[in-house]
Amino acid sequence: MSKKLTFSISDTINAFITTIPEIEYTDGNLSGTTVAIKDNISTKGIETTCASKILRGYIPPYDAHVVSLLKSAGAAIVGKTNMDEFGMGTTTENSAFGPTLNPCDNNRVPGGSSGGSAAAIAAGYCDMALGSDTGGSIRCPAAFCGIVGLKPSYGRVSRYGLIAYANSLEQIGPMAKDVTGVSRLFSVIAGHDKRDSTSVDRPYTHTPDPSIKGLRIGLPSEFFGEGVDPKVADTVKQAISTLEKAGAEAVPCSMPSMSHALAAYYVICTSEASSNLARFDGIRYGPGGDLRKSWHEEFSDRRQERFGKEVRRRIILGTFSLAAGYFGRYYQKAQTARQMVRDDFTRLFKEVDLVAGPTMPSIAFKLKEKSDPLQMYLSDILTVPANLAGVPAISVPCGKVDGMPVGLQLIGKHFEDEKVIDAAFAYE
Ligand code: GLN
Repeated sequence: MSKKLTFSISDTINAFITTIPEIEYTDGNLSGTTVAIKDNISTKGIETTCASKILRGYIPPYDAHVVSLLKSAGAAIVGKTNMDEFGMGTTTENSAFGPTLNPCDNNRVPGGSSGGSAAAIAAGYCDMALGSDTGGSIRCPAAFCGIVGLKPSYGRVSRYGLIAYANSLEQIGPMAKDVTGVSRLFSVIAGHDKRDSTSVDRPYTHTPDPSIKGLRIGLPSEFFGEGVDPKVADTVKQAISTLEKAGAEAVPCSMPSMSHALAAYYVICTSEASSNLARFDGIRYGPGGDLRKSWHEEFSDRRQERFGKEVRRRIILGTFSLAAGYFGRYYQKAQTARQMVRDDFTRLFKEVDLVAGPTMPSIAFKLKEKSDPLQMYLSDILTVPANLAGVPAISVPCGKVDGMPVGLQLIGKHFEDEKVIDAAFAYE
C-alpha cells in the first residue's frame, strides 16, 4: 500500500542540493524511514549533479541499483545531498552549490566528500543516508559529524548508477546515527547485481552481536604517530581500552606500506578520474548548448567553465600519469604500492581479526583551513588504505576533542563486514 509523507526542513547548513517535499513510499523493512542520497547516485526523474555545474539539470532516466532496492524496501527518499564535486575532496567545500556546514560547529566543515549526507543525519533532517567512499568519503564525514558510516567490502554493493570517480576504489555505503541503523540500511543495499560486473553474491543478513570476547585488534603504530593529533590518538586509545574491557585483545603491529599508500591512492584515483570524466563533454548530459566553435574548442571551453578547479587539477594529474612516456614511472609504481598495502593487510589478518585506529588524523577543520590541496590530500592518510585493499571499514563516534566528535575506525578482512559491524556495535 502506498503512503505519503511531507518532508519540510529549514536546511540552514546546506546539506541538500535537492529536497523532495512530497514523498510516496510503500510497506517494507524500511517503511517510512527517511533516507537521503548523495548526489552522485542516480535517481530516476530527480536531478543528479555530482555537485558540478557540468551536470546541472541532468535528470537520470533510471535509478541506481541501490535506489531501486531502497524503494522496494519502502524507504522515503527525502533528497539529494551536497558533496565535493564528483567526490573529489575531504571537506564538501569543492561543491558548485557552496559548502555544507558542520552541524556541531557551523564554522567547521562536515568532512567530505559525503558531507551533506553526514550533516543531514547529524542535524536530524533524516534517519539515514547513502554515501560513497573512494578514499574515505563516508568515514571522514561520519567522524567529523559524530555519526556512523561504513565503507563495505569492494563488491558487496552494486555500483550500477553511481557516477564513477575512481571505480576500482569506490563503494556506496550506509550512514546513520548508530550502528543498528547502518546495519539495517546495509541489509537493504548489499547483494549481487548483474549490471555491475564487480558485484558479488554476498547479501548481508546479519544482526549486530556485541560479544567480542577474544577478538584480536591490531593497532598499527603508523595510525597513531606523526601527523596524527595526539589528543585524537589518545581518545581512540581510550576507546580501544573500552573494547579490551569488553574482552578484546589489543595487539601492537605495523603497516610499513603506509608510507606509500597516499601517493599510490592519488595517482590511481586521478588516473581513473581522468578516464571516467572524459564522458562529460558539456554537450551530452547537463546544460548542453549550441555548438558555435569546433568540437575540440567547445569541449575544452565547456570543461574549463563547468568543472571546478579541483576536478580540473585531478584530470590534468591523471592524464599526466597515464601518458605513454610516464606510465611506468607513476601508474605502474602506484599499482605496486597498492599491492604492498594489500599484502600488509593479508599478513596482519593472519594475526588479528581487525585493525583499528583513528578515522581522521584531526577533528573537523575550520572552513577554508585546507585551502592548499596537498594539505587536504594528507588528511586522507588513514582512510585510503582500506580502499586500496578493498576491505571493509567503519567509523564510529568515540568521544570528543575540543567539543568536536572523533571517529574510531575499525578495518576488517575482505567480506568480513559483519565482524567490523559487531565490534563497532560492541563499542557503541
Ligand atoms: N578525499 C578523498 C579524495 O579527495 C576521498 C574522496 C572520496 O572518497 N570520494 O579523493
